[in-house]
Amino acid sequence: MRITFHGAAKRVTGTAHLLEIGDRRILLDCGLFDTDRANPDSPNRHLTFDPRGLDAVIVSHAHNDHIGKLPCLTRAGYTGPIFTTDATADIASIMLRDSARIQREDARKAALAVNGHGRNLDPPPLDPLYELIDVEFVVDQFKRLPYSEPTEILPGITLTFHDAGHILGSALVRLDYVEDGKPRRFVFTGDLGRRDTGLMPDPAVIKDIDILVSESTYGHKALDPYDKLLQQLHAIVARATRLKSRIIIPAFSLGRTQRMVYCFQELFHTHKVRPIPVYVDSPLSLRLTGVHREYPEAYSPAARKLMDREEMYFSSQYIHFCQTWDESRRLNDHPGPVVIIAGSGMCDAGRVRHHLRHTVEEPDNAVVIVSYQADGTLGRKIADGVDQIEIDDRLLNLNCAVYVLDGFSGHADKNDLAWWYQQTGGGIEKAFLVHGEPESLTALTSVLQPSVREPVVIPEQLESYEV
Ligand SMILES: [Zn+2]
Repeated sequence: MRITFHGAAKRVTGTAHLLEIGDRRILLDCGLFDTDRANPDSPNRHLTFDPRGLDAVIVSHAHNDHIGKLPCLTRAGYTGPIFTTDATADIASIMLRDSARIQREDARKAALAVNGHGRNLDPPPLDPLYELIDVEFVVDQFKRLPYSEPTEILPGITLTFHDAGHILGSALVRLDYVEDGKPRRFVFTGDLGRRDTGLMPDPAVIKDIDILVSESTYGHKALDPYDKLLQQLHAIVARATRLKSRIIIPAFSLGRTQRMVYCFQELFHTHKVRPIPVYVDSPLSLRLTGVHREYPEAYSPAARKLMDREEMYFSSQYIHFCQTWDESRRLNDHPGPVVIIAGSGMCDAGRVRHHLRHTVEEPDNAVVIVSYQADGTLGRKIADGVDQIEIDDRLLNLNCAVYVLDGFSGHADKNDLAWWYQQTGGGIEKAFLVHGEPESLTALTSVLQPSVREPVVIPEQLESYEV
């Protein structure tokens, strides 16, 4: 087999790994990079392989850094199957349609700005990466497979998905095939979930691996255990109740929002914390949460027990969803205590910005950071506790309390990864670390190496290996 890394090499975004087994070519994921998509030099604007030469595409889960460029494949002529789990196909359909709509809207606004006011935009606005029609081809090409059911996807190549426990539908990708008369097993972790996280089940274990491609997002860091996070959240809710104040939680619509909703349900129903209203202010979250309700079997045994008993899969009398802008604006006058969960997760766009504007200057209020915040984003500035922030040309004093609870991540930390590697039984022939910053890749190498016979490899972008 030959493997070439077309993304997520020494970085956490743009996942796309090309496998060549005999004369068959299989692409694992096709994600967006975290660069400005309007930049003509952005890797999002180009494919570094020929999509028409692919025999199959396999998708691990529906986060944008794993699926965001799928419509670029169909736009460039790929007509073959795109294998994924049921839930991932449902979620990806919503995410990609939403993305096509936003790109079209952005292009329209940019064109209006040029034509309407005679201004030149520098750089000029670029076309969307893809259109809705390209997304519809992707949706048509999805081939849905259940977990733990080996399926021969190409002659002599069998694909099995195992639950990765990262988000709804997330999968570990296992390929079994014969090469030079020998049976071989290749495993790609996709994004691996944490253990004991409340909502999602623990990641599945796979043994007898010959070749492993592993994510490394938190390979350098031990995150707080779930019990401790719940205690911290409890204290933050109690403070808001006492002060009749507001709690803003910036969160991505997929995964983190549902995880936080479940945490509040657990606090209010299992731990008998005095409930306060929780608003999820995002139409996209509302649609994605609807998909989450269709898969009650997907969650951890403890989560299913609670949600079955209360008949409340991501809904209860304390949880409210806002659809319209009017509903969103009315939250500005909502008396405390109140929790508002809104996107975007890094505060650079979306409804969370107007909630922050109405919250951060009051010392009794709080912002709770539960997601990764990239350098340069408004969310990172808040997490770093700067004195002032700027939202929509207004300078605001950051007087409110700021709590950073990064243990709510959906990614395995270094202890979870060490546990998972041990569970493989060792004896891995060759392993590659991807989807991590240099610090975590280096730290994780020593954790993984005892389970691997050959030196662990940290590949560069576009590097190829014969394995
Ligand atoms: Zn992910």
